[in-house]
Amino acid sequence: TALEPVTVIGLGPMGQAMARTLLAAGHRVTVWNRTPSRTDGVVADGALRAATPADALRASELVILSLTDYRAMEEILAGVEGELAGRTLVNLSSDTPDRTREAADRAAGHGARFLTGGIMVPAPMVGTDPSLVYYSGPSEGFERHRGTLGRLGVPRYLGEDPGLAQLMYQAHLDVFLTTLSALMHATALVGSAGIPARDFLPEVMPTITGVPGMLAAGEDDLGALIDAGEHPGDLSTARMMGATADHIVAASEAAGIDLTLPRAVQGHYHRVLDDGRGGDNFTRIIDGIRAPR
Ligand code: NDP
Repeated sequence: TALEPVTVIGLGPMGQAMARTLLAAGHRVTVWNRTPSRTDGVVADGALRAATPADALRASELVILSLTDYRAMEEILAGVEGELAGRTLVNLSSDTPDRTREAADRAAGHGARFLTGGIMVPAPMVGTDPSLVYYSGPSEGFERHRGTLGRLGVPRYLGEDPGLAQLMYQAHLDVFLTTLSALMHATALVGSAGIPARDFLPEVMPTITGVPGMLAAGEDDLGALIDAGEHPGDLSTARMMGATADHIVAASEAAGIDLTLPRAVQGHYHRVLDDGRGGDNFTRIIDGIRAPR
């Protein structure tokens, strides 16, 4: 049986990688991009160029969107909503969970199934083994196109709420961006004493790679304890970590570098100490994060 045709709207690096992956698998791929020249490469590889968004929608039941944000989709679909009925729109663009939910409601109002997705790898890794893509929205739409979507990366379906895939995407990026800022901050800190970045960055890697072992150490699975509201203090009490956070702020101040990030971290621990819970595990900081004062 023939593979289902796919339309890809938005041919930035991600859209191009997706179109190429689907072409390579043998799908008929139709593309549309606001700046037409960005489709030249994939058209040379065999994709069909749609002249208008309406033509792009009509070409396939499955329509993948890869755009800067959800506003871009609204601009593209304005005036062609009549073409949406019966299609499955899969928006793999970043935006807030609430924007995603609003867009899903509107698309459903026009008779479309609307899935939200978050791709967890950069463009060169789309379609390769480590590629992972979160989806949420109507399970019927996901199951219907699971095989095709699976070509982009391992699909992980999170549930009916269309905001969930975005939320998971933001959560990953929350960890990623904060870690990158911490690495640059620490590099500036040791740099103030003349230690070059090329020496420091390999030096600090074990601190990052040691985190998984700290989070899932057998019976002390921290996730399970956090879910149970338990924060037994043992090796890493909030008091000890808070004192360290104070030292990082002081060392950064002495070095004359930016204090925004270490002060935020220090604030998490001071809140635990203010609550009289310094003897608890460091995980207790989640209380103040969940319910800031
Ligand atoms: P780009 O910013 O390079 O591409 C964005 C696309 O959106 C372009 O095709 C652009 O069209 C289009 N666009 C933006 N605004 C409008 C508008 N108002 N009307 C019509 N078209 C518009 O992004 P990427 O390809 O890198 O990423 C796409 C999405 O994937 C983003 O949401 C990103 O967060 C996400 N993502 C990206 C990853 C990456 O490594 N790059 C990794 C994981 C997710 P035009 O060419 O005309 O400007």
